Amino acid sequence: MLDLTKIKFDASPNFSTRGAHKPELIIMHCPVGTLQGTVSTFKNPSSRVSAHYVVDRDGSILQMVKLDQAAWHAMNYPNLIGIGIEHVDRYDYSGRLMGGCMVDPNWFTEAQMQASANLVYALMKQFNIPVEKVMGHNDPWLRQFHNTHQDPGPYWNWYQYRLRLEKCKQADVPEAQQTSNDTAEKTSNSTEELVNIKRKAGRPPRNK
Ligand SMILES: [Zn+2]
Repeated sequence: MLDLTKIKFDASPNFSTRGAHKPELIIMHCPVGTLQGTVSTFKNPSSRVSAHYVVDRDGSILQMVKLDQAAWHAMNYPNLIGIGIEHVDRYDYSGRLMGGCMVDPNWFTEAQMQASANLVYALMKQFNIPVEKVMGHNDPWLRQFHNTHQDPGPYWNWYQYRLRLEKCKQADVPEAQQTSNDTAEKTSNSTEELVNIKRKAGRPPRNK
């Protein structure tokens, strides 16, 4: 599993306290611009925007706001409970209203999506966040808090993304559990053998 403490950190000045709130929501974004553009926007105090993480196209991850602070990516209350993740777009659309994620089905890369899923899985586990609370900035629930952005756009494939999260979970079985799974398999094999022996002895198997 991805070690969250080993992610490179480059502080943004754009954050505030979460107050009494804890992270319970993960919000996916696609910024309008390159990695350098996104980072410089997040480091600029007058932009008043930020996210906790930026996932680049090669799968590298940069953290810009600490998780116990609220980053500024989804207005008011969602910021207090949210973790914001930006995914760098294929094109530099700086200065435009729409990014490539709105118009190009291939705006992201495989490495980027996998790195994002690895990151999100580690965050879900750390903060006990269910998969239902991993959403796009375009999620209708966020509208009530005056969010109007449409990122990460119509080509964000939630089905495939959730499959990636599921695979992360499957790969994250602790060693002790793997051993007990092996034992369970052996037990079930021996139960099967017992049933076969009983069958051979002419007794009908039960629970069929
Ligand atoms: Zn957004």
